[in-house]
Amino acid sequence: MTVVAKFGGTSVADYQSMCRCAAIVLDNPATRVVVVSASSGVTNLLVELTQANLTDERRLELIKSVAAIQYGILDQLGRPSEVASELDRLLSQMAVISESLVLNRAKSLMDALLSTGEMCSSLLFAAVLREQGARATSFDVRKVMRTDSHFGRAEPQIAQIETLVANALVPLLQDSLVVTQGFIGADEHGETTTLGRGGSDYSAALLAEALRADAVEIWTDVPGIFTTDPRLASGAKALAEISFNEAAEMATFGAKVLHPATILPAVRRQIQVFVGSSREPEKGGTWIRHQVENAPVYRAVAVRRAQTLLNLHSLQMLHAQGFLAHIFATLAKHRISVDLITTSEVNVSLTLDKTGSDSTGAGLLSEALMQELAEHCRVSVEDNLSLVAIIGNRIATTAGVCRTVFTVLEPFNVRMICQGASPHNLCVLVDEKDAAAVVDALHTNLFETQA
Ligand code: ASP
Ligand code: MG
Repeated sequence: MTVVAKFGGTSVADYQSMCRCAAIVLDNPATRVVVVSASSGVTNLLVELTQANLTDERRLELIKSVAAIQYGILDQLGRPSEVASELDRLLSQMAVISESLVLNRAKSLMDALLSTGEMCSSLLFAAVLREQGARATSFDVRKVMRTDSHFGRAEPQIAQIETLVANALVPLLQDSLVVTQGFIGADEHGETTTLGRGGSDYSAALLAEALRADAVEIWTDVPGIFTTDPRLASGAKALAEISFNEAAEMATFGAKVLHPATILPAVRRQIQVFVGSSREPEKGGTWIRHQVENAPVYRAVAVRRAQTLLNLHSLQMLHAQGFLAHIFATLAKHRISVDLITTSEVNVSLTLDKTGSDSTGAGLLSEALMQELAEHCRVSVEDNLSLVAIIGNRIATTAGVCRTVFTVLEPFNVRMICQGASPHNLCVLVDEKDAAAVVDALHTNLFETQA
């Protein structure tokens, strides 16, 4: 049995948190590879460091803040001298790159800068594990996490990762635990890349796939996946298990528990995924599996905020062929992933998929894209929308689901509905200001009252 354990930013925020994570790792001898995010807040600071037009003063402030977080951990180590010089080296490298960025705005430099966060946290976490008696080595994931060269949101190269892992990582596992970085990779020229914000979960799943591991544990700050965000409905409950199909619909929603792409490698190799809280491991968590014991019609209600709706109108669509193909080719060219779609005779409306957005936070709808679309159709954009999804099973084939759902939604305006494509999902697009009330009403009616 081999387990890959991933610890998110809040789990490795400081020395005490790292000690709790070390205990979780040591508690399970099957855990061989540990993947860490940057310590909480560090990536945000680094993203700000990549922005144009920073004053020198602000730049130095940001560098100091990152250093304060990392040295705060180093200072509490029993034998800080073991890793102090490497930490110094990483932090001065960060300062040097941030200075280069003032003149050279290359995206490759931005990714190199962002990678500092994970490099520091993995170095420190391996030291914490050794302090607790483990044999633990920190390993530079760029030796195995091969990606394309799309800096800021690089695409992993699955087959190459598998070979590299077999050659460079597997031999190390024989006599040591390996601590490595989430989020970062390298292209074929050895240049540092990143997988997009929140990409560490995805890294862990990719490594698990290449290692043919049995499970991936995602340790975060919530004890599992809930029936809905507990901040929106007080009756929300943690789920003991959900299926890959449900999770795939859900991963893109929820309280950002899981990076959506995490599911892909897990499904390919049927690797179980566990989500739990490193602060309260005794509370257990949620297992995402291929086979689950029961498959209720309603499993969860999830919300995704800050949605953008793109409305396209063209008479060319009437009785025409290839209009949509053209639109989608344009969107693909600009690397926009489409989420929900509805169409009429002469209109198509779609929401944009923002998941794994660029590490540097670049906006989706560029000027160039809008111009290109405008050549073929009339375009309008609506913001301030939220997508609410009801996730479950047999939704499209169970009589009465729509009546139940839309009775609850009666007081709210529903801007768009997507239903029928997936048996696991019914989605409604609502005004941002109604989202919390919509979620609460749905949760109360679908989960808290006896049918
Ligand atoms: N540190 C990166 C981020 O904050 C990756 C991650 O945490 O998963 O986006
Ligand atoms: Mg994170």
